[in-house]
Amino acid sequence: MLSLWNEVSQKQNDIPHFHLLIDGCWKCLSSGEYQDVINPATGEVIARVPLANQQDVENAITAAYRFFQTLVFDPLERIEIMLRASDILKNYQEEMAKTIVLESGKPISIALSEVDATIERLHLVLEEVRVLYGEYLPGEWVKDTRGKFAIVKRRPLGVVAAIAPFNYPLFIGAAKIIPALLAGNTVVVKPASDTPLSLILFVRILEKAGIPAGSIHVITGSGKEIGDTLVTHSLVRAISFTGSTAVGEHIARLAGMKRLHLELGGKAAALVFKDADIRTTAALLCKGAFRNSGQRCDAVSRVLVEEKVADTLLEALREESQHYFCGDPMDPKTPMGTVINEGAAKRLDALLEDAKNHGASFLAEKKRTGLFYPPHILEINTECRLAWEEIFGPILPVIRVKNEKEAIELANQSEYGLDSCVFTQDIDRAFRVAEKLHDGSITINSIPAHGVGHFPFGGNKRSGIGREGIKYSIDELTELHTIIVSLKEEK
Ligand code: NAP
Ligand code: MG
Repeated sequence: MLSLWNEVSQKQNDIPHFHLLIDGCWKCLSSGEYQDVINPATGEVIARVPLANQQDVENAITAAYRFFQTLVFDPLERIEIMLRASDILKNYQEEMAKTIVLESGKPISIALSEVDATIERLHLVLEEVRVLYGEYLPGEWVKDTRGKFAIVKRRPLGVVAAIAPFNYPLFIGAAKIIPALLAGNTVVVKPASDTPLSLILFVRILEKAGIPAGSIHVITGSGKEIGDTLVTHSLVRAISFTGSTAVGEHIARLAGMKRLHLELGGKAAALVFKDADIRTTAALLCKGAFRNSGQRCDAVSRVLVEEKVADTLLEALREESQHYFCGDPMDPKTPMGTVINEGAAKRLDALLEDAKNHGASFLAEKKRTGLFYPPHILEINTECRLAWEEIFGPILPVIRVKNEKEAIELANQSEYGLDSCVFTQDIDRAFRVAEKLHDGSITINSIPAHGVGHFPFGGNKRSGIGREGIKYSIDELTELHTIIVSLKEEK
């Protein structure tokens, strides 16, 4: 067993059994039930995590609330803890990356960069903490406020529920936990059931770095079973959720007046114009569609290409796609591992079947072996589900368009609004198109990539509410507190 695992699990029948973290204790569990964590590459059970019940959730939230009320917030201490955590994570980089590979099936090269991004994210608290300074506002600018000034403070909200998805099991959860704690909140975190281990280990690292017991609590178990309790609990002030639009909208319906930060599905369009550098564009599009087996909210999910260069682009895509093949996820040279589970693979099968039935032509098509899903490129029409649904797998659909106007119209018809990208060497066209697209971010001459969050990221329309990133996450997880001072005239 890997060494950090030993600190938060115990072997039973040779399988490591992990614990919940409630109120500074890694063993509390009322149900006594567990769920399997499966390696998607081999089908083996690699660990078991507690199947928390409503009572466990209640215990975690009340403990987090209790601790919040007694918390004496010391920002410098928080910074030091995060920087120490970054050093500790560096020491465990390989073990953490291997854990990500084991539970998610992604290749080790991508897992290592996920750990790197998390180390960097921890360091960036030095930049982020400035948001907490708040601001001073002079009153003399407006008649109403003459003779007054205001101090606008940023205060923590209280208990934040952080709910994470499977696709970047360490980074996405960490990118919620770090700013929430930095701002002085307490956190109840729920990792995805497919991939709970790396986030559990991350919380263990925060503990080792000195985060006070009671600041952070870990709940594992089925989102369907315990999610409603978590998001409706009266002591939870904010929900920071990354996951599917279906679950995000369910949460939004239940949450009432709680602060909501929702990072949901995407359907990034790549608009490719006749003056684009086709070879470079094709290489980028394959990376955008196939990296992490396309299991990314910002994955390139449809190409809208001007007719004049469509054949050239399709041929270039076919050639470039040969660099993407599935292999042993632990091999550093492997570009693609597995998709997350059988349900995900079957959904991709159904999307391809639907495209076939609508007359799509396939350029790159190989059969999947278990959960090892090779890349697919196909030319489709707008009748196909692939034209509109989030894919979340290594499939790149291409649609021919007549001109710029049609490309923009089709891009904006999507119910999602997370990302898009524009490929052209005409600077006027690049900005003109970028201005007209409805998405949260538009990338010119490259693919969307949220990375460590130095630029804000988040979606419009059904892709979510709010923005994540250095400083932007703090905005989402704090409330403004304005103190107005009225100066008396001298008598
Ligand atoms: P998911 O099925 O929606 O699950 C996300 C999390 O929500 C998991 O922890 C899940 O727990 C939990 N959950 C499920 N039902 C719940 C409920 N009723 N109440 C509260 N929590 C509940 O998403 P996923 O399959 O893990 O991730 C893929 C999705 O995430 C894609 O749609 C992708 O676009 C989106 N995503 C968005 C971004 C972004 O920044 N916009 C980034 C990454 C991913 P269980 O695992 O126990 O079901
Ligand atoms: Mg799994």
